[in-house]
Amino acid sequence: MISRRVNDIEYAIRDIAVIADQVERKGKKVYKLNIGDPLKYDFITPPFISDALAKASHNGKNFYADSLGVIELREEISKFLKNKKNLNVNSEDVLITTGVTEGIYFLLAALIERGDEFLIPGPTYPLYINNTKFYDGIPIEYELDEKEGWDPNIEDMRKKITKKTKGILICSPNNPTGVLYSQNKVKQIIDLAGEYNLPILSDEIYDQITYEKEYVCPASLSKDVPIIGMNGFSKSDLMTGWRLGYLYYHDPEHKLTELKEGMAKMARARLSASTIAQYAAIEIFRTKSDHTKELVRKLKERRDYSYDRICKIEGISCVNANGAFYLFPKVELNEFNRWDNDKDFAIDLLKETGVCSVYGSGFGEFGKGHIRLTFLPDINILTEVYDQIENFLK
Ligand code: PLP
Repeated sequence: MISRRVNDIEYAIRDIAVIADQVERKGKKVYKLNIGDPLKYDFITPPFISDALAKASHNGKNFYADSLGVIELREEISKFLKNKKNLNVNSEDVLITTGVTEGIYFLLAALIERGDEFLIPGPTYPLYINNTKFYDGIPIEYELDEKEGWDPNIEDMRKKITKKTKGILICSPNNPTGVLYSQNKVKQIIDLAGEYNLPILSDEIYDQITYEKEYVCPASLSKDVPIIGMNGFSKSDLMTGWRLGYLYYHDPEHKLTELKEGMAKMARARLSASTIAQYAAIEIFRTKSDHTKELVRKLKERRDYSYDRICKIEGISCVNANGAFYLFPKVELNEFNRWDNDKDFAIDLLKETGVCSVYGSGFGEFGKGHIRLTFLPDINILTEVYDQIENFLK
């Protein structure tokens, strides 16, 4: 009594948590490095944002908002895109969503008919596989090449474009690899999309969390190719549980008019995103605050520590992350002769040491043989984690 659509949903990041709970119930300390939620560690929502939320509710902002979003917030986002990314996106080209998650649902619902293909990076954030299939589409993974520091393989992408392709996803900084696409490859993807008249979807949720390299927004490099950017407040403003995001259309040649109308219809059919959260988010743009800078400073220390420890463990190799908060090490499974695949490895690691990672195959075919570890916990916890992994592999 359950549809194929729902039965097929898999989300390894949370699926592994079920086993983690069992391990915890047996009395073992569990290190939950599976979920990308800074608020589960020692990070808090900046108090001025929480105050703004309370104030909005006390001031009667408790109604359904406009389906496209509160206009003042859309205007602030439009100004931000101009100042920070040099984009000419006016407020009508911004749609407020219940997190990037809802934006992904909307876009795939609007783009995909049965049997259509959607090009996504491999490895990929699992929602893109799930949602494409949910709408009876086929997710096709283009290679992020580990040997090239997880940069996209453009030839592989070109080979995989067919008459059924409906769009290309750029996810940079990437989840699960933690790596930014190089500017050169982003340009090549835009050229390819132009050649085949395809729109680009750009998941920019980690754009403000970068370390050595500056983030370059794909839309700022595109003269004519339409790009739909998706972003939100979950990560860089420490508001994961508030469920607030937005998408914007960079559409210099008005190729997205129909899509935009369809998306607006979907937005109306679900009434609105959280009104009080939107009023609070306006204050993020109007208040001078270093909270994102401080977040990145702390994360960089934790990334440096984690990467350094991983490099010293035999049987594991890793490309360093220059964005987001994940490392995606490769486990040399044949060297150990004990595990058949990354899932068995991750489950064994969890049961024996309490370290909960996510098995790489949960991020698609290209993730096989890897595990994803967040570096969100503080260094004391990370020290215990890497001591455990080191001993386990010895
Ligand atoms: N996109 C990527 C690449 C993510 O890693 C995540 C969350 O981990 C999301 C989207 C979901 O973001 P939101 O909280 O805005 O729904």
